[in-house]
Amino acid sequence: MRKIEHIGVAVKSLAASIPVFEKILNTTCYKTESVESEKVNTAFFQKGESKIELLESSDESGVIAKFIEKKGEGMHHIAFDVEDIEAEMKRLRHEGFVLLNEKPKMGADNKLVCFLHPKGTNGVLIELCQERK
Ligand code: ZN
Repeated sequence: MRKIEHIGVAVKSLAASIPVFEKILNTTCYKTESVESEKVNTAFFQKGESKIELLESSDESGVIAKFIEKKGEGMHHIAFDVEDIEAEMKRLRHEGFVLLNEKPKMGADNKLVCFLHPKGTNGVLIELCQERK
């Protein structure tokens, strides 16, 4: 674990939320990207080393739609930058954490990602992400 790579925020509508975060951060969204496999549309903002990822469901059956239905809009996950995602997954599995995917998968922003089950992490959904080389 090197640093927080980004914080994920679940929103109902990117079109409505991008201008809000552009005002808060006083910067423009630098990238939008759809991740078909996750049924999610994302928008990224950066300030210094810190990034915010807005997540909108592209389908009413998607995980973000379900999350918003249950908890409403808001903080969804914290993503940590890791140098070697396979090694971190192995380490955390040994520590007894439940990984939501057994192998790293392609996430947004050219990253390999893996999520930890929030039941073992005090309710915080944690994403490991490694820049794809
Ligand atoms: Zn993320």
